[in-house]
Amino acid sequence: MPVYEYEHIWDDCELCDYRFGVVQAVDEAPLEFCPSCGLNVRRVVSQISVVKSYTFDADKAAKKGFTTWKKSGIGTWEKIAGSGVDMIVGDPDSVKE
Ligand SMILES: [Zn+2]
Repeated sequence: MPVYEYEHIWDDCELCDYRFGVVQAVDEAPLEFCPSCGLNVRRVVSQISVVKSYTFDADKAAKKGFTTWKKSGIGTWEKIAGSGVDMIVGDPDSVKE
């Protein structure tokens, strides 16, 4: 699954990195809110998002200050690499599957 890069629409998020990556299925709806702080985010088009297979190097990206989370359950995100929180647990009722 590709890694999609997101950025905060308002760059005043103090809880997490301005930009972050999320492993998502191609047909999965883009996130509207940061899974970490809940602020509005938008998906940004980058060279990372066009890879078809999982060739993204999360550790290399982490060295550039890029945090990557992988969805591990309904509303649950597990960090692969980077400086953000290790685990994000959202409200499962608020997550559209
Ligand atoms: Zn955030």
